[in-house]
Amino acid sequence: MHSTPFLLDVGDLLTHPGETRSVEFTGAFDAEVAQAWVTGPVHVRGRLEGLTDGVYMVVRAQVPVAVTCNRCLTNWDEAFEIEVRQLFGREPDEDGYGVDEHWIDTEGPIRDEAVLALPLAPVCRVDCRGICASCGADLNTAPCQGHEEAESSPFAGLKDLLSD
Ligand SMILES: [Zn+2]
Ligand SMILES: [Zn+2]
Repeated sequence: MHSTPFLLDVGDLLTHPGETRSVEFTGAFDAEVAQAWVTGPVHVRGRLEGLTDGVYMVVRAQVPVAVTCNRCLTNWDEAFEIEVRQLFGREPDEDGYGVDEHWIDTEGPIRDEAVLALPLAPVCRVDCRGICASCGADLNTAPCQGHEEAESSPFAGLKDLLSD
């Protein structure tokens, strides 16, 4: 088993049910959805509790992300905080998370929660006007003046007729 910051030795808790211990570490993982992705190390802080048949984890993680506006494609950075609660039993759960000998790997549960928190259709602001479908101008900052070629084409009049 190769070592990562997310891999925690919980041998002490397994032999002392009822005891709790605080944990704090920083680790990196890749997580992304269509228009948002984790950009840097995630800072994790919380506690572990020993149970008779496993370990219960409650942590909060600071997750730095980059986001692309769904309408105008502007990028920006932000950070959000997630809370992760996970029981690591002696037997792995349906996600495969459990105690392995005297180790728990906290990366999966933390990454799962981070992915859920990533916005699926982010907008830079609620009234973002997006970009012009014809010329790509950012309509928030450089209003498109319209497209003469289209208006003066022989079909422009026909288009007006058809749209009535
Ligand atoms: Zn936007
Ligand atoms: Zn345009």
